[in-house]
Amino acid sequence: TRLNRIPRSFPNVNPVFTIILHFFRLLYSMYRRSPAESDHLLYYPQFRNICQAGILIFFSVIYFSEKVAQNSYRVFGEEDYQTYKEMHYIKSQLKDIAEHGSLDDERVLVYCQPVRNVHTGTYDTAESLMRLRLPQTGLVFPDRFIPLAEKYGYIHRLSMIILNKTCRQIKHMQDEGYQISRVSVNLSVEELGEKDFMEEFKSIVRAAGIDFHTIAVEFTESQNDTEYELVQECVSEFKQLGVCTYLDDFGTGYSNFDRILSLKLDVVKFDRSLLLMADQDANSRFMLDYFSTAFERLGYKVLYEGVETDAQEELCIISHADYLQGYKFSKPIPIEELPRFLTRG
Ligand code: C2E
Ligand code: CA
Ligand code: CA
Repeated sequence: TRLNRIPRSFPNVNPVFTIILHFFRLLYSMYRRSPAESDHLLYYPQFRNICQAGILIFFSVIYFSEKVAQNSYRVFGEEDYQTYKEMHYIKSQLKDIAEHGSLDDERVLVYCQPVRNVHTGTYDTAESLMRLRLPQTGLVFPDRFIPLAEKYGYIHRLSMIILNKTCRQIKHMQDEGYQISRVSVNLSVEELGEKDFMEEFKSIVRAAGIDFHTIAVEFTESQNDTEYELVQECVSEFKQLGVCTYLDDFGTGYSNFDRILSLKLDVVKFDRSLLLMADQDANSRFMLDYFSTAFERLGYKVLYEGVETDAQEELCIISHADYLQGYKFSKPIPIEELPRFLTRG
């Protein structure tokens, strides 16, 4: 009986589906009205099943189309299939890099973004940013592979490749006489619990022949107690080694100030979204000034990310900036090109 309570019209749906649906509905109601003793075609049991299946199938099609029209669903089309195939390919390449690749794997590229030192007016630090170059897709940006690498446990190997290549480039630039205070690499909390994480980190830096203070590590805010404890443990080990520690993306998560301050990191990176908000209203500018003053008094260095305009640069400078990073100065470039931003001698 529920099958008979189907509405008559579906405004957002191709009318052909509606006609077919009502055709099956009509047949089904004829079957229900025909006398039991009839040897009429309608009385074959298969006929009843066919009507019910027809109603169900077309009702589902209509229901789904309605949802699509209301934007609550998207139909899986050719484009989605291509995206799915590409994701699958990237995942298999990540697996191959993590399981068979070397620390020099050519598919993992180090890009970097020079960071401007406000006090000296020079570029003496930079951030390493990962890219992949894969045979079938060309250059792949982090938003398309970092979440996959984190989810499937490949991120640690990738980080170690970035660390290795970054350390070797630092060594090369130092040997050439360039002034580089340090380069930071990003770490994901997923990898901090890896067995031998610290040992591997130390041996890569030592093998490159650079000092620990010329490398820095960036962490994002922890989401829960377990993550926080992992970060805390690593931070104290890094500090003992002399590795500089950065808090990345400040202003994006639910900032837990107690936790942030008890980590005692060296540099706080104000996320680009804070600058965009401050561009728009006075309250956000006040917040920016408030937080940057607090961090400065607590002995942190303040770095602003995503600086794109002169107005933003000015705002950062009056809001206690020590370092500036953003497209205004440079987009990320292959790390081999970093020397053109550095001073020599
Ligand atoms: P992030 O660590 O916050 O890196 C900064 C991102 O902001 C970079 O994107 C950079 O290109 C972009 N950016 C810099 N200046 C500007 C600007 O002025 N305007 C705008 N609109 N964007 C700017 P990218 O390289 O695509 O990296 C995205 C994210 O991927 C990074 O965010 C980081 O979370 C992650 N990531 C990148 N490399 C690594 C890595 O080696 N390891 C890990 N774990 N994560 C990485
Ligand atoms: Ca970062
Ligand atoms: Ca950031």
